[in-house]
Amino acid sequence: RTYSADDIRKSVEEENVRFLRLMFTDINGIIKNVEVPVSQLNKVLNNKIMMDGSSIDGFVRIEESDMILYPDLDTYLIFPWGNEHGKVARIICSVHNVDGTPFEGDPRNNLIRVLDEMRADGFKSFNIGPEPEFFLFKMDENGKPTLKLNDKGSYFDLAPLDMGENCRRDIVLELEKMGFEVEASHHEVAPGQHEIDFKYADALHAADNIQTFKLVVKTVARKHGLYATFMPKPLDGINGSGMHINMSLFGEDGNAFYDEQGEDHLSQTAMNFLAGLLDHARALTAINNPIVNSYKRLVPGFEAPVYIAWSGHNRSPLVRVPAARGLSTRLELRSVDPSANPYLAIASVLKAGLDGVETKLQPDEAVDRNIYRMQPSERKANHIQDLPSTLHNALKALDADDVIKAALGEHLYNSFKDSKTLEWNAYRQQVSEWEREQYLELY
Ligand code: ADP
Ligand code: GLU
Ligand code: MG
Ligand code: MG
Repeated sequence: RTYSADDIRKSVEEENVRFLRLMFTDINGIIKNVEVPVSQLNKVLNNKIMMDGSSIDGFVRIEESDMILYPDLDTYLIFPWGNEHGKVARIICSVHNVDGTPFEGDPRNNLIRVLDEMRADGFKSFNIGPEPEFFLFKMDENGKPTLKLNDKGSYFDLAPLDMGENCRRDIVLELEKMGFEVEASHHEVAPGQHEIDFKYADALHAADNIQTFKLVVKTVARKHGLYATFMPKPLDGINGSGMHINMSLFGEDGNAFYDEQGEDHLSQTAMNFLAGLLDHARALTAINNPIVNSYKRLVPGFEAPVYIAWSGHNRSPLVRVPAARGLSTRLELRSVDPSANPYLAIASVLKAGLDGVETKLQPDEAVDRNIYRMQPSERKANHIQDLPSTLHNALKALDADDVIKAALGEHLYNSFKDSKTLEWNAYRQQVSEWEREQYLELY
């Protein structure tokens, strides 16, 4: 819904809201916020809240550190877990420079820019339905996560196997109170692993929803003595957590991916968009799988993609075209994991697809066989490339892809690259327990 400044003044009064959390997202996808008492409401509504941008990862240097928070009033939302002293509400903000211009290093501003470019291409909206997965770990007496899972359940299991069920149901209830339309929630394949799917929304709100979702999941889990993590591969030997992204472009006449006359009822736009995703898949990986640990998930055997291919039927490829048609015609990108910054991921994926549409790119044939069972020579004959196997290789692919770099813009690209290079360099210096076990006595 939409809110005016007066709507918010009224709601704050009527609902006894005592604090406002002004939120935005840093380059690593981490939510940042400053909390102000409602006495500061007018300052908030008049774009007068300042902050120090030099203390935020990927923002600015100390010399130019003053920045201003412009609230996006439509994101006003009261958290359901208030207490007798009053409630807390949040507003997502756009970060601006002191001269009032939008700051280009703010991932959310960047997504707004890319969405404007999409409208210039004649489309109305980009719809995103995410499928975030997460693990619930038991906490120790100090409130720190342990590596003990809270159940031994598996895909679609019910209680008592699924001890997370009560917690998951509470999460769903809180989400509904906050206006989410939850479509399904279930135990996932790995023990202690869960998934909650909520209804698709236009790109900007979908990204906001993902951020809010993570906050709610973590908050509610804590009340159940559990620690929720969106780390892509917390334990080796079992499935990791993905965040499949379902997407479609809507134009004046509804879903532009649907065509009654098209092959399989898919439009040319859908095929071109799909080709764009595949063409830029290697560079996209850096954004969609942005941490060292992401690459421990992208290995064969755990339902996560490893090869660049698409299919209408099987779940092993990178892009799947779910069977639904009409309004629900969509592409599902299966590589994305929940450590991705949703604003950067959605902007990059959109640019990749639009590049395919603009250049009328056609995808290779669908691969309807299990790619993991193919010989390497067969994959080669079918032009099936690998996704990058490390953060380092993904960053190299990104550096070579001008379309995806442009999707981030210069400021964000440079700070992303700097931050991720540091991360990779720190990681490569580490010597792991696995290496000592393998090599210490052998050599
Ligand atoms: P699956 O089990 O096929 O992987 P789910 O049913 O778990 O997928 O999730 C489907 C997601 O796709 C939901 O978030 C749903 O709202 C979303 N979705 C449905 N139609 C569209 C569409 N036209 N564009 C984008 N997302 C969509
Ligand atoms: N957990 C799997 C992954 O890493 C996905 C399982 C599923 O198909 O939902 O992507
Ligand atoms: Mg799943
Ligand atoms: Mg899925």
